[in-house]
Amino acid sequence: MNKIVIVGAGYAGMMAAVGLAGRTKGRDDVRITVVNATDRFTERLRLHQVASGEEVADLRIPELLAGTGVEFVAGWVTGVDAAARTVRVDDERVLEYDRLVYALGAVADTAAVPGVEDHAHTLNSAHDAEVLARRLAGLKGTVVVCGSGLTGVEAAAEIAGQHPHLDVVLAGRQEPGADLGPRAKAYLRAALDRLGVAVRAGVEVVKVLPDSVEVAGGEGIAADAVLWTSGVRVSPLAAVAGFEVDDRGRVVTDPALRSVSHPEVYAIGDAAAVRQGFGPLHGTCQSGMPTGGHVAASLAREVRGARPKPFRFGYYHTPISLGRDDAVVQFTKPDGSPRPFFLSGRRAVWYKEAVTSAPWPTFGRIVRLPALGSVWPRGGRHTR
Ligand SMILES: Cc1cc2nc3c(=O)[nH]c(=O)nc-3n(C[C@H](O)[C@H](O)[C@H](O)COP(=O)(O)OP(=O)(O)OC[C@H]3O[C@@H](n4cnc5c(N)ncnc54)[C@H](O)[C@@H]3O)c2cc1C
Repeated sequence: MNKIVIVGAGYAGMMAAVGLAGRTKGRDDVRITVVNATDRFTERLRLHQVASGEEVADLRIPELLAGTGVEFVAGWVTGVDAAARTVRVDDERVLEYDRLVYALGAVADTAAVPGVEDHAHTLNSAHDAEVLARRLAGLKGTVVVCGSGLTGVEAAAEIAGQHPHLDVVLAGRQEPGADLGPRAKAYLRAALDRLGVAVRAGVEVVKVLPDSVEVAGGEGIAADAVLWTSGVRVSPLAAVAGFEVDDRGRVVTDPALRSVSHPEVYAIGDAAAVRQGFGPLHGTCQSGMPTGGHVAASLAREVRGARPKPFRFGYYHTPISLGRDDAVVQFTKPDGSPRPFFLSGRRAVWYKEAVTSAPWPTFGRIVRLPALGSVWPRGGRHTR
């Protein structure tokens, strides 16, 4: 019996689960178990919408996995024993594995500066986004969004669009859309201006207080609510288990996405430190889903007695929503650097929505057509 346990059923873990179920259909020597904090699939790509008070679809993982033979366990993974090859769930249930797929994702780093844990909201889970939505519903005054990366930009634009009576400030080190080409960046900035978002770029937030945000140099920005989107933090479980991790706690992987210290463990999505020829991958759904698809194929190969192959991936776009009525999509080279062309306005809104809504129906299709789970851009010469 090949006991395969997948911890984390986000974008990467779900890809691994459905891909593996499809590829091992009919085999009675493979047992797949998926563990996730909730039985509702978290569409992280829509959490800024949830935080702004929008209703999103109620997607249930057990319903999608029904009939696949995959066992689903709703619970919190509290430990991994690498020597015994077991996973502990809710401190009570123990699952044995021959192969582990580690897909616990990453969240914004609330330990980055003092006061975040006590006074700031996050988009770290659906629950956190709903808490912020309730807060914003009755709020008057100023919302400060800390972190001018793409999550901060999407959140600031969405809040400003859905709550036009609020003042929204976007504060962070970098210019919004810093990695976009000049025309897409200018479009994004004009959209934020149109929505009334006050951009404070080039500032270092050093403290979050009950009614303000302090930036380096001592200036305070008054805040009636604060949203923290900056930095990345992963679960400490991998490091505690003794898997080799990088300076952010992500599992360091070999070219086939196996832990370099524990080859019976595959790590995927935001929880994994994955390198390509052009450098490390940054946490995106765009790259996370292919890591899951690749691991499904690798595990199916291992079950048949074959060796896993190296993972290759190249970026192709950066779609960014700018409220419900606007968006910008920067097309990129495989290393993530901008190409000259981009979409904006209605066409970009349509494109962004198509990308955001694609994963769930794709999971369903992959169970029936597992080869679909191996379709993504390999990056050409950039990753050879
Ligand atoms: C607001 C927002 C917008 C974004 N927009 C984009 C975008 O447009 N394009 C893009 O490519 N990326 C986007 N991202 C990033 C993208 O969401 C992540 O890169 C992606 O979710 C990573 O997938 P994952 O499977 O690694 O992790 P996740 O999707 O976060 O899944 C991890 C899963 O593990 C579960 N889990 C964690 N710890 C435990 C535990 N101890 N026990 C049990 N379960 C656990 C979680 O509940 C979750 O279900 C966005 C992120 C945010 C927050």
